[in-house]
Amino acid sequence: MHDIYAWQQAIWQKLTQKRQWRGHALLLKGKQGIGKFQFARHFAKALLCTAPTTEQTACGKCLSCGWFEQQAHPNFFQIIPEALAAGSSDSGEKEDSEEKSNSAATKKNASKQISIEQIRKLTEFVYMTGHQNGYKIILIHPAESMNSAAANALLKKLEEPPADVLFLLVTHQAQHLLPTIRSRCQQIAMPIPDVQSSIDWLKQQRVSDPETSLAAASFSPLAALAFEQGGHAAQHDQFIQQIGNPSRLDPLALAEAMQPVNLSLVVSWLQKWCYDLVSYRTTGRNRYYLKQLAAIQALSGQIDLPECITFTRALNSKQKLSHHPLNPRLFLEELLIAYRVLMNRR
Ligand SMILES: [Zn+2]
Repeated sequence: MHDIYAWQQAIWQKLTQKRQWRGHALLLKGKQGIGKFQFARHFAKALLCTAPTTEQTACGKCLSCGWFEQQAHPNFFQIIPEALAAGSSDSGEKEDSEEKSNSAATKKNASKQISIEQIRKLTEFVYMTGHQNGYKIILIHPAESMNSAAANALLKKLEEPPADVLFLLVTHQAQHLLPTIRSRCQQIAMPIPDVQSSIDWLKQQRVSDPETSLAAASFSPLAALAFEQGGHAAQHDQFIQQIGNPSRLDPLALAEAMQPVNLSLVVSWLQKWCYDLVSYRTTGRNRYYLKQLAAIQALSGQIDLPECITFTRALNSKQKLSHHPLNPRLFLEELLIAYRVLMNRR
């Protein structure tokens, strides 16, 4: 496991050295791609470590640390959607960014939800005799991917917490969790790195054009890195090139070409693109697609501004729906057709 990110040092100290947490459930919340999941794993590993350092990090040498690194710790239980697990050759280093999970999407039938069966397995974990004494830690990521049956099953466990069990829930969208689950957890807002820290970090990772990558990844450094490291750069470029030229846009062909990519990710590209069109038209500045300034300048001068704003807002609700579409291809086709109509109406 890598080190704790620079932007997480303060929260790390608060939680570990100062022990500023209580209860049996923590909810680590914050935007995607800022390293929440990695932080939760560090935290779990450190709590389980039998010889933690003075900074309260895991020693990396004891038996417990060895088990943890081999994904075999008897007191640690991790629940993630099948699709995330399938996409990860090494779940220990799994990104909490959407981009990396896309490789899992190619495994078509892998579920993106956490099921009630996965939550039920907790019972066995909790009540079987764990290794020695001390904590048993349950990590659930991302918590909003629990379907309603799973969420209700978890709620029961949170309501009657077994002794010496710590739940670590990680979420990108705390508002999508049951309020009753949220209220049973100590909520921890995970820090978002500022732009300069993100760029510094991306430079350390040898990303060649960190400013551009970061903006295109909605200012999530991990998402920017995952994207650089091969996620779906080709599809992304194809997508932006086509929607940047709406008179020649072929929605059906483009939707077909985007099949290997996670639908929510594609919708986020369109959201950012439309945001840039509106932003450039109203403020003379674009935020995300810095390299496509010329295309954005040209298009934004031609759009019907109120309609484009309405469409951009509608995309926000489409983004929520895109996590569980009945038919992903149809979903995207319809969006792209609506986009083309909007752009060619002028
Ligand atoms: Zn250790």
